[in-house]
Amino acid sequence: MNIIKGGEFLLKETKSEAIFITEDFSEEQQMMKTSVKEFIDKEVWPHKDRFEKGDYAFTEEVMTKAGEMGLMSISVPEEYGGMGMSFVSNMLVCDYISGSSGSFATAFGAHTGIGTMPILLYGTENQKQKYIPNLASGKWIGSYCLTEPGAGSDANSGKTKAILSDDGKHYLISGQKMWISNAGFCSLMIVFARIENDKNITAFIVEYDQKNPNGITLGEEEQKLGIKASSTRQVFYSDTKVPIENMLSERGSGFKIALNSLNVGRIKLAAACLDACRRVTTEAIKYATERKQFKTSIASFGAIQYKLAEMATKTYATESGSYRAAKDIQNKIDTLIASGTSHQEAELKGVEEYAIECAVLKVYASEMTQYVTDEGIQIFGGMGFSKETPMESAWRDARIGRIYEGTNEINRLLSVGMLLKKAFKGKLDLITPAMAIANDLMAIPSFDTPDYSILFSEEKEMLSKLKKTFLMIAGKAVESFGMELENQQQLIMSASDIMIEIYIAESTLLKTEKLVGKLSESECTAQIAMARLNLFNAVETANTKGKEAIISFTDGDEQRMLLMGLKRFTKYTNYPNVIQLRRIIAARLITDNKYSF
Ligand SMILES: Cc1cc2nc3c(=O)[nH]c(=O)nc-3n(C[C@H](O)[C@H](O)[C@H](O)COP(=O)(O)OP(=O)(O)OC[C@H]3O[C@@H](n4cnc5c(N)ncnc54)[C@H](O)[C@@H]3O)c2cc1C
Repeated sequence: MNIIKGGEFLLKETKSEAIFITEDFSEEQQMMKTSVKEFIDKEVWPHKDRFEKGDYAFTEEVMTKAGEMGLMSISVPEEYGGMGMSFVSNMLVCDYISGSSGSFATAFGAHTGIGTMPILLYGTENQKQKYIPNLASGKWIGSYCLTEPGAGSDANSGKTKAILSDDGKHYLISGQKMWISNAGFCSLMIVFARIENDKNITAFIVEYDQKNPNGITLGEEEQKLGIKASSTRQVFYSDTKVPIENMLSERGSGFKIALNSLNVGRIKLAAACLDACRRVTTEAIKYATERKQFKTSIASFGAIQYKLAEMATKTYATESGSYRAAKDIQNKIDTLIASGTSHQEAELKGVEEYAIECAVLKVYASEMTQYVTDEGIQIFGGMGFSKETPMESAWRDARIGRIYEGTNEINRLLSVGMLLKKAFKGKLDLITPAMAIANDLMAIPSFDTPDYSILFSEEKEMLSKLKKTFLMIAGKAVESFGMELENQQQLIMSASDIMIEIYIAESTLLKTEKLVGKLSESECTAQIAMARLNLFNAVETANTKGKEAIISFTDGDEQRMLLMGLKRFTKYTNYPNVIQLRRIIAARLITDNKYSF
C-alpha cells in the first residue's frame, strides 16, 4: 500500500481514489451509523434540557446505556471484551454519538479517549486484562488527570508527587488536579505525577471507589459556561496508595503518554464536532424556511443564504478532512500489523505518524463549530438567544472545543513545530521544494493558457500554489530564524493557518472529486460548489496571513519578491463567482430542508 506520510500532504499531490470518504462506509458501518443516530434521537435529543439543568446523573445514565449497547468498545480489541473495529468505525461512533449534547459528548470522549486509550496504548498485558473489559463495557468510567492549577498548557510542570513506599510495593500520590472530566462518576483515573525530581512525569492507573476513597477527595462541580452536565471537578490526592504494578509504561514516560493520548483525543474531537454541526445547520434551515419577515421566508434572503451556505460548507469540509485522516491512520496501523508489529505498537505509531493532521483537525473543527453555532443563533434572531431553542446551548457547548485537548494556540504551534521537527530529522524533505520555489520566483512566469476543461483542474492548480505559498514562507522563516523560529509565535500562527486551510481545502476537493466519480457531476452540483467556495476562502486566508507573515520578517527587494510570489500563488485565472456558489448551495439546502450531504 502506498501510504502518505504525516505532514506530506504539503509536498505531494494526493489522488482522490486514495482518500476515504463517508460514502465509502461499509454496510456494517452504515448500520452502526443508523443505530447510533437512533440512540441519540431517542435517548438524548428529547432530553437536552436535563443536560442544561446540570443533571449529572442523567449523563451517567446515558453513558451506562451507551456502554450496554457496546458503543464504548468499538476500537477495543476482542481479547479485552471489545469489538476490535477499525479507527474509521471508532471515528464514526464518536461523530454521531456527539451530535446532540456537548455534555454527553465530553463524557463519552473523555472516557473512550483519554480515559481508556493510555491503558490500551501503553498498558501491560495484565493491566489491559484487568481494566479494559470494565472500561469497554462502561461498567467503569475512566478519567484523565493531567491538568493542575499551575500546570495547564505546560503539562509536564505538574507538582503532584509519587513517592515509593518504604516496603517498595506502592507509590503514594499526593497533589491536586483540576478540570477533570468525569471525575464525579469515574471508577478509574489515569493520574500523572512526578517521582523525586524526575525531568518528566509518570503515569499511573488509579482505582477510585467513593466508598473507600484511598485519600482521594473531589472538589465541587465547576460552574461552567457550557457542557453543564459534564462532570468537571478538582481532584485532591493525599498519600493515595497505588500498587507499583499500576505504573503505566516506564518511570518518566508520562509526558509522552499524555501527548500520544491527546493525539487520538484531538482527531476524535474533530469527529465529535461533525454531527453537532449537521444538526445545527438542519435546525437553522428549517427555521429559516418557516420564519417570515417582510411577508417573505427569511431563507429567501441572500444574507441568510450566505450563512446557510457557509455553515454547510464548513461542516462538509471538516468531515472530508476528518475521515481522510482517520483512514490514513487506519492504513498505517494495518501496514504495521502486516509487517509484524504488535497491535498495540501499531496503534501508537499509526496515530503518532499523523499527529500534525490531528492537531490541524482539532483546530479547524473546533473553530468551525463555533462559527456554525454562532451563525445558527443569528439565523434564529432573538429566538436564537433564548434557552427555548437548541442554538443557545449548542453555542455555549461549542466553546470548550478550543480550550481542551490542548488549546488551539498550542495546537497551532505544535502543527508547525512537528512539521519542522520532521524536516530537521530528515523524515520529510521540505528544503528541496522550498528551494525550488525560491528559484521559481526568479524565473519568468509562463504565459501559456492552461486547459481547465477537466473538473477541478484550476482548483488543483490553485491548491498546488497554496502549498508553494506555505513552503515559500516557512522556508524563508527557517532560513532567517533557524532554531529561534519558535520565538516567533505570531509568524508560526500565520503559517499554521495556511497549513490548516491547505489540508482542509485539499480534503474537500478530493472528497468531491471521488463523489463525482461515484455519482455524476450533475448530482453533485452543491458539493462541487462547496469545494470551490471552501478553496476560495482558503486562498483568501492564505493571502492575508501570508502577507502578514512576509511583511513581519523581510524588507527591501526580498520582501518585494516574496510579496510578488504570494500574489502569483493566490491568483486565479478564472475567479469563482462565490456569491453564485453560495446561492447554489443554499438552494439545495432549502429544497432538502436539511443538511443532506
Ligand atoms: C471543561 C473542561 C474540561 C477539561 N477536562 C480535562 C480533563 O479531563 N483532564 C485534564 O487533565 N484536563 C482537562 N481540562 C484542562 C484543559 O486541558 C486545560 O484547561 C487546557 O490545557 C489549558 O490549560 P489552562 O487552562 O491552564 O490554560 P493556560 O495554559 O494557562 O493557558 C491560558 C492561555 O495562554 C495560552 N498559552 C499557554 N501557553 C502558551 C504558549 N506556550 N504559547 C502561546 N500561548 C500559550 C493558551 O493557549 C491560553 O489561551 C479541562 C478543561 C476544561 C475547561
